[in-house]
Amino acid sequence: MFKGSSLRLTELGEGLAELCFDRPGESLNKFDRRTVAELQQAADLLAAHAGLRGVLVSSAKDNFIVGADIFEFSALFSATPAHVEIENARQAAAFTAFSDLPVPTVVAINGMAFGGGFEMALACDHRFIADTATIGLPEVTLGIVPAYGGSVRLPRVASCATALNWVVSGTPRKASHALVDGAVDAVLPADRLRDGALAWLRQAAAGEHTWQDRRQRTRGPVVLDAAAMEQAQALAARTAKHFPAAAAFVEFMANTAALDAKAAAAEEAKLFARLATTPTAASLVRLFTNDQFLKKKGKGYVKAARPLKLAAVLGAGIMGGGIAYTSAVRGTPVLMKDITDAALLLGMGEADKLLAKQVDGGRMSADKAAAVRASIQPQLDFTGFDGVDVVVEAIVENLAIKKKVLAELEGLVRSDAVIASNTSSLSIGEMASALQRPQNFVGMHFFNPVPLMPLVEVICGERTDPVAAATVAGYALAMGKTPVVVKDCPGFLVNRCITPYSIGFLRLLHDGADFRQVDAVMESFGWPMGPAYLDDVIGMDTLAHVLDVIAGGYGSRMVPDFPTAVHLLAQHKQLGQKSGSGFYRYENDTKGRPRKLDNPDTASLIATVQPFGPRTFSETEVIDRLMLPMVLEAARCLDEQVVESAVEVDMGMVLGIGFPRHLGGPLHWADQIGLPEIVRRCEALSGLSPIYRVSDPFRKRAVAGEKFHA
Ligand code: NAD
Repeated sequence: MFKGSSLRLTELGEGLAELCFDRPGESLNKFDRRTVAELQQAADLLAAHAGLRGVLVSSAKDNFIVGADIFEFSALFSATPAHVEIENARQAAAFTAFSDLPVPTVVAINGMAFGGGFEMALACDHRFIADTATIGLPEVTLGIVPAYGGSVRLPRVASCATALNWVVSGTPRKASHALVDGAVDAVLPADRLRDGALAWLRQAAAGEHTWQDRRQRTRGPVVLDAAAMEQAQALAARTAKHFPAAAAFVEFMANTAALDAKAAAAEEAKLFARLATTPTAASLVRLFTNDQFLKKKGKGYVKAARPLKLAAVLGAGIMGGGIAYTSAVRGTPVLMKDITDAALLLGMGEADKLLAKQVDGGRMSADKAAAVRASIQPQLDFTGFDGVDVVVEAIVENLAIKKKVLAELEGLVRSDAVIASNTSSLSIGEMASALQRPQNFVGMHFFNPVPLMPLVEVICGERTDPVAAATVAGYALAMGKTPVVVKDCPGFLVNRCITPYSIGFLRLLHDGADFRQVDAVMESFGWPMGPAYLDDVIGMDTLAHVLDVIAGGYGSRMVPDFPTAVHLLAQHKQLGQKSGSGFYRYENDTKGRPRKLDNPDTASLIATVQPFGPRTFSETEVIDRLMLPMVLEAARCLDEQVVESAVEVDMGMVLGIGFPRHLGGPLHWADQIGLPEIVRRCEALSGLSPIYRVSDPFRKRAVAGEKFHA
């Protein structure tokens, strides 16, 4: 009947037709503008088809439809709200045209149906789903709400509570869960799905189902569920300041429940236009496309990587233990060597705790946990190191010791084995100078805690072979991490960019700020923890050392020219969480987790490095003083090709240190503010410290009206 480039219409006989989504040459179906236009064409053809008695909707791929084409969002979202509203209403009309066909419609959801994919299913009269399929409405994770009619149809098809739960959480659901929630009508084994849906369609066409009554009901108002509304409101309110979509959906439900579906659809388009044009949506869409870019790069690394069957870790401490556990749990067996039994016991104890948590939470079977544990081999000697493909060194952060240990290690592994160091501050080039095969040496910088933190910096020294770097990047991917390849420089990417932020904070304290106020401002700005709290978690001794090494590496541009609170606290052995006291005081709660408490003595101690006494700063000044130097350093990293792209700078900061997601990364944030404005604000602070000095390339970009991201 019709063959488009994303879907086709076929007559099945007996007046039945099949609308099958099938993008040739691609593994997935998605809704881009072309597909929506073809849906409209198909609906028009079906409406004009005289003998039509029913329509089956299906997919020829393993999945149903994975959602809208998010790559099209960036351009659409940068238009005016009025334009977005018109464009959205036009696209949603194609779904409505299909749902208004005068015959019964049924969908066979054979695999993933997310966002627009599930909205297509909601535009049908009856939904069959394969027992293996997952469905959901993840739009809030992009800062928007479903707007192909899904925000209107789900509460009318299922219930107010289901719509609230599904849209506000944005999480995918299994078929069985969808059935319980009323989002689908029947679950079938995948091999019986199409036949089941067709059988229903034949019966409906023969008048055996009251599909018209149900259709009528879904065109009317929604019964509001007060308890579900209250619960959703409370949940959405927690993140509403920076992520407004979920709260806006709850409000939309309250405002449109009494309306019929047509009037509610007009409101849906308005809400979508309002949310899509927020900076949050722009940032979240940017993060999505960034992630896709990194995934593509990751495939390249895997292709170039050497085979990796067995790994080893030197050091069973905080980092080594975490790396060994993560390697094992993701399927790469690992030898874990330390120099003391006590350290090995600690490392294995940590793995045991993490595995027990998985088993207790029902996420892993006891047998699997035992197998994972058995794939970590604790040892005091180098037995078996001649068989490993990669060794990750995670011993003490001391250059002389690392060089000695690495040189010894090199003599015990195969000549093609890759040796990686998890150093956080030492030069990869300098360590490589102790080796016979520097081409096989690379940095592999994990973040603490290893099982949770998604980023791994892969650091290439001058002599590192790209294949060695790709092998380590491939290992990071196998561990479920995102690798970013970084050039060897003090602090690499993430710690380099966070250092001027830290110095901005310390300078603010020196100028009289209250660290509790600074923490409150930065947490409200979107950081998971304020800078003083972060310092406590890292530890003052580590931080003082890292500050000296990294800042020292950039000379007077970064070295603080004033006594810092971090060095002061380190001298007074107020090391942070690990000593029970830093900026704050810590007591363990009943579960053994450190609870942050006020530390009455710290303010008077800090006062000794505040020569001008206490002073109050505006929120804007606190934010500018910390954030701007980070932005400038991030730009320098790009200009010096520390990483290849602005995407990698931003993703490094989001994944490595929790840069607020709603801002999209330091360079995306700078683009949003505008580079001339960043220059103006930096100039206002430039008398305070060289960290506020704008580099020439940054200034040139600002003058030329350029952005970091195209
Ligand atoms: P840690 O003190 O917890 O562990 C170091 C372990 O190495 C100890 O168990 C020690 O016994 C062992 N060790 C020392 N010499 C050894 C040798 N010759 N052979 C085998 N084992 C030896 O330290 P950590 O925090 O795990 O840090 C390890 C490395 O990771 C350092 O280079 C550090 O800079 C880096 N790093 C740490 C963090 C962090 O937050 N802790 C983050 C990123 C990187």
